[in-house]
Amino acid sequence: MKFLAALLVVLNARLALSSCGHGTVLHPRAAAGEAVELPNFGYGADNGPTNWHGLSADNVLCAAGTNQSPINIDSTIPTEQPGFITMNVAVQDVVFENLGTNVEVVLTGESTIGGRQFALEQFHFHSPSEHLVNGEHFAAEVHLVHVAKDSPEEILVVAMLIEASGTSSVDSFDTLMSNINRIPTPGQTTTVPALDISQLATVANTIPFFNYKGSLTTPPCTEGVTFLVSTKTLPLGVDNFNLLKNVVKGNARFVQRGIPATENVLVSSFRSLPLKVRQESAANASVATTSATERDTVAEAVAAARLRRLTPFHS
Ligand SMILES: [Zn+2]
Repeated sequence: MKFLAALLVVLNARLALSSCGHGTVLHPRAAAGEAVELPNFGYGADNGPTNWHGLSADNVLCAAGTNQSPINIDSTIPTEQPGFITMNVAVQDVVFENLGTNVEVVLTGESTIGGRQFALEQFHFHSPSEHLVNGEHFAAEVHLVHVAKDSPEEILVVAMLIEASGTSSVDSFDTLMSNINRIPTPGQTTTVPALDISQLATVANTIPFFNYKGSLTTPPCTEGVTFLVSTKTLPLGVDNFNLLKNVVKGNARFVQRGIPATENVLVSSFRSLPLKVRQESAANASVATTSATERDTVAEAVAAARLRRLTPFHS
């Protein structure tokens, strides 16, 4: 399975459609002047997280991967001390894009994280939060997507949890939300002049972060992504939270851990189905792989995908 996963990562590298990985080697940004590329996945019944693997063979890890994000963070997840992250982002004009599944801010910045150098490529929002802490969702979550300077395939996401607040709000979020009505439709972009995210960076530079290795939370669900999840929340004014929610709707993948260790959620739920249904579905799956073990695992994932399209079964 490891070999298959590694092979798929390589094959996916040039094909990926992902807002979480947008602007990285996994999903290079469209050149200046070209239309914004919109993903084919979403969060609905047909194109949502339980069927991302059914949208493209490139997305098989969304169903068969065993180290997926997001997760419910509990006491087993280690934390890094304040100062682990040093984010430096100059005041700059930024492009603010509506990607259909997300709104994304394209900017540049430098971060030193765990003593290594990273480039900040973009940040974007999920609502509600993708990560849970001890089972609790938050209003939203911002993903600051970094790539390692010495290894551009290596992706690190600084994820900061956001709470709606009646009394305070991060100023750069307010600036963005005051511009969000200029990009209500997928594919639209606008320029926000002189965005200053130093307030956000100061928080990131002075709090502990949970640290774990997972995956992109959007197709193709590529693994090996380092997640640093904030131990404290950032405030976003209620009115501005409602503006964000109005545009991104709901764009959080369900958590991927809390089931038998290192098993994919979809495969796990497939196992809970009656044996007869599993046998019939697995018999219909035809996937060329390199070993019986890999074939069985992927066949089950594919079968799980097909099950969603079956008419109600008789147990
Ligand atoms: Zn994301």
